[in-house]
Amino acid sequence: MLGWLRRKAPTQGHFARLDGAGFAAFAPGSVWLVGAGPGAPGLISLLGYHALGEADVVVYDALVGEGFLDMANPKAETVFAGKRGGKPSPKQADITLKLIDYARAGKKVLRLKGGDPMMFGRGGEETETLAREGIPFRIVPGITAGVGGLAYAGIPVTHRDTNHAVMFLTGHDDKGGVPQGADWDAVAKAAPVIVMYMAVKHLGSISAKLLAGGRDPADRVAIVSHAASPKQSVIETTLAQVDALPGDIPTPAIIVIGPVSRYREGLDWYVGALRENRFG
Ligand code: SAH
Repeated sequence: MLGWLRRKAPTQGHFARLDGAGFAAFAPGSVWLVGAGPGAPGLISLLGYHALGEADVVVYDALVGEGFLDMANPKAETVFAGKRGGKPSPKQADITLKLIDYARAGKKVLRLKGGDPMMFGRGGEETETLAREGIPFRIVPGITAGVGGLAYAGIPVTHRDTNHAVMFLTGHDDKGGVPQGADWDAVAKAAPVIVMYMAVKHLGSISAKLLAGGRDPADRVAIVSHAASPKQSVIETTLAQVDALPGDIPTPAIIVIGPVSRYREGLDWYVGALRENRFG
């Protein structure tokens, strides 16, 4: 199937197998926004992997899983742009300015983000600024935690027997509170499955709003922490029981409300700590 990858003989180095695969050239002075996927190193796209091998600078977020920087060009400068040790994260504007500076200095700049850059990842804001400043950019999509992370917990985000629609929701707004702009009654009724990002902190009040909006108290809730990593863990409850959850749910966590988590019973294939597949 991947015959096209082998059309040209490998030339040199770590990334040689991708040489000649027809990937877009990473032009000096441009910025590529690349999604790293939810955790496991293998979940980055081939185009993203190729870009890691080409980049001069890799500006990465806290949610980027371990192992990605080892895939980067050994000569690349790596710059951390996330929260660490409780310190405040660099301002979004500062990160974007840094990308612009590197690009104007003629570097191949790779902005590496967890999951997909355009899903609650501020990829839209960063590319808007790049476009305004006339910096050439490219977006390399990634596997978002709300789909791929659930798959690692044996939860299909859709199943023909349960849901024809999914809603993606953020659990906090830019000020850190419960999103004020959301019409919670409408959210409660919008889709059988609601996938929530950044929602652990306000899960109690969000659940109360969904119940007030008519959502079934027996609706299933699954919380997948550190998805697709050796630390992955899953907690299951119901909407009515959310208040009884322990206060120390590990984050990052993706929360799925709705019937699809019932499939986990048969499909829970990933044993994170062992990096093993239960089903061989
Ligand atoms: N762009 C990212 C989302 C960034 S918002 C994506 O597409 O996945 C950050 C939120 O993503 C976290 O609060 C959490 O809800 C979710 N998340 C990201 N990586 C995760 C992981 N490995 N396990 C569980 N949740 C994750």
